[in-house]
Amino acid sequence: MDLFFRMSKDCQHLAKGVVWATCAFVCQRCLDQLLVKVEAKIQVNLVSEGEAHEPRDFCEFIAIGDSGISLSTWMEDELLLAIPQVPVHNYDCTTEDIRRALSGQSGQVAENRPFAGLSSLAKHN
Ligand SMILES: [Zn+2]
Repeated sequence: MDLFFRMSKDCQHLAKGVVWATCAFVCQRCLDQLLVKVEAKIQVNLVSEGEAHEPRDFCEFIAIGDSGISLSTWMEDELLLAIPQVPVHNYDCTTEDIRRALSGQSGQVAENRPFAGLSSLAKHN
């Protein structure tokens, strides 16, 4: 984590930096383990809770109460927001079973057709 705090000329408390971590996920294509470097850029204006503030410089605000803020919780939240929605390997990890299922050829996955009997039910009505 590289994080710097400074006060701007107009007395705004600013935090800027980057936090990163290597996290283990399950690849959503091949279901194998996948390690991803998750990185979140931070550029926020720290304000007191209840303090009136105006948006400036596309900077997000974080309101801090009397008890302060936990740096580890804040960084954890930033990393959680930066997690990829669908983590997949950055190479073609498609297995032969997945290829068969996607192409509609017979195979264990392709034979599982849960709605196959609906058309015959509809004909009786
Ligand atoms: Zn994969």
